[in-house]
Amino acid sequence: MAGEFGTQFMPEMTIAYSADNVWSDVERVASDSISVHPGAHVLHYASTCFEGLKAFRHEDGSVQIFRLDQNLARFAQSCALLYLPEIDQKMTSAMITDIVAYYKDDVPEPPASMYIRPTHFGTEPAIGKAAAPSATSTQFILLSPVGDYFTGGEATLRLLLDSDGMRCGLDHGRVKGGGNYASALKHIMVAKKEYAADQVLFCPNGDVQETGAANFILFDNNEVITKALDDSFLHGVTRQSILTLAADRGMTVSERDISVEELLDRASHKGCEAGLSGTAAVLTSVGTFIHDGKEYQVGDGQPGPVIRELRSQLNDIQWGRAEDTRGWLTRV
Ligand SMILES: *Cc1c(COP(=O)(O)O)cnc(C)c1O
Repeated sequence: MAGEFGTQFMPEMTIAYSADNVWSDVERVASDSISVHPGAHVLHYASTCFEGLKAFRHEDGSVQIFRLDQNLARFAQSCALLYLPEIDQKMTSAMITDIVAYYKDDVPEPPASMYIRPTHFGTEPAIGKAAAPSATSTQFILLSPVGDYFTGGEATLRLLLDSDGMRCGLDHGRVKGGGNYASALKHIMVAKKEYAADQVLFCPNGDVQETGAANFILFDNNEVITKALDDSFLHGVTRQSILTLAADRGMTVSERDISVEELLDRASHKGCEAGLSGTAAVLTSVGTFIHDGKEYQVGDGQPGPVIRELRSQLNDIQWGRAEDTRGWLTRV
């Protein structure tokens, strides 16, 4: 796949408009432009959220979407938390499957896939509504074929553990929305420049949360540790899928708070692995933590076998090479 992740788009998308909580019919339109009023609510008050999921081509020629229901539910929840007009999950589901079916022949073979980006934002031209929701909105489903995340080999990531900064307001983490990304960016830019870090692991008050766009999971030999679901971070579908597969393997899954102190202590254990989970990369190894000017190697600093195996187990389900025993796939 040519170009950077997410820079190539299918030429058309599905779109629908909401006014006073009534949705229009769904249309298929060119995906190279949309028209919004310069006073649109989203441009001033960040009333926007999105989803990220993937469709995969199987060897039998079918195309299958991974965990569509989970992503729809989360989309609905983001919309609700932002007081955007309520989405009709059935309608959004049809918008997704229709456009993926339309471009079925363009869904690439594994390890590439078709990335699906549902987006919903407030369009009311009302700059006086700084403290009120938008009465109108637009929802579209944009498709982007994406290549293998691990082209060029599997490297480990360097994470800055940031105990001072916050990704977003601690009660706003469950929203998959632009505003949260905007507030995280400053911290990420500083970490890249000053520490040559790849990402920031946000740990406000010493509580290990997640990075700017991926969940954090620690694999300390037979124990899997990751923060329990609360309002402070995004509830990743990949996180939940990996925890399910880890439990299947007989690993002990501990969903609980973990402090920076405990994290750094465990990182030195032989066989310890740390990973970032998300739709784009599934599960990526972390090799180094940077904290208070010091560097800490995770295990031996190399990509570990547990993460590699869990990732390929999940890929096998997505790619139709292992049985989908839990109904995680939706055939288009
Ligand atoms: C999307 C996202 C994730 C990963 O979620 P998945 O459902 O696994 O793709 C994690 N953190 C943030 C902040 C996200 O926006």
